[in-house]
Amino acid sequence: MTTHVPGDALVSLNAVNKHYGQLHVLKDINLQVRKGEVVVVIGPSGSGKSTLCRAINRLETIEGGTITIDGKVLPEEGKELAKLRADVGMVFQSFNLFAHKTILENVTLGPIKVKGASKAEAEKEAMALLERVGVGQQAPKLPAQLSGGQQQRVAIARALAMKPKVMLFDEPTSALDPEMINEVLDVMVQLAKEGMTMIVVTHEMGFARKAADRVVFMADGQIVEDETPEEFFTNPKSDRAKDFLSKLL
Ligand code: ADP
Ligand code: MG
Repeated sequence: MTTHVPGDALVSLNAVNKHYGQLHVLKDINLQVRKGEVVVVIGPSGSGKSTLCRAINRLETIEGGTITIDGKVLPEEGKELAKLRADVGMVFQSFNLFAHKTILENVTLGPIKVKGASKAEAEKEAMALLERVGVGQQAPKLPAQLSGGQQQRVAIARALAMKPKVMLFDEPTSALDPEMINEVLDVMVQLAKEGMTMIVVTHEMGFARKAADRVVFMADGQIVEDETPEEFFTNPKSDRAKDFLSKLL
């Protein structure tokens, strides 16, 4: 196991629990993610990975335990929650762009509305981000005019425009045609290299090997393993992880 320095954690989940009715979907989750760390979360469908992501920016409430972002406990609601939520960028499987706004507007909306940026300032920053993810030319278009890979890169730029402290990705390439997966993963690898703190749910084991500092394996709402990718892929400890990996190969 990686040794954790709790005081150093940018994101910290402590004894987090969540039920949907009778279903116990997060069972005493403890997870510390340090600044600059890239944690890849893998596990079978239904193991609670999306719920974990949604809990971290309070799209889901939790029933017990605490979630801390940069030393501050996430409250249930209110202004402080909105502020802390802005520290967490989220990219979903379905790109969730605003269909009737241009690509540029999709990226400037948050900074203008939430951060009080001027239009000129927000547009300058947005163009730089769109260039960085390779879709600067698409700025005046509507989302439907872009490929899935391009839309997902816009979604990444939109999240980055809020200057988050941590980026969460929930299966960002699962809805993409195979030939578009790499253009999105490349942007994510670049982000990781630049030192962004990232929590990434993905089935892309190549990404995990290349970019992850740690692999967290979830099954049935629990963290079953938390290892370096090297250790996890060559020497998985649990039967659940062995079984999961054997089905991937
Ligand atoms: P994963 O992302 O690992 O596939 P999820 O976090 O989406 O898993 O789901 C974990 C479990 O919780 C699954 O059994 C799923 O069916 C259930 N679940 C997820 N969202 C809800 C919901 N809103 N209401 C009821 N059950 C849910
Ligand atoms: Mg999921």
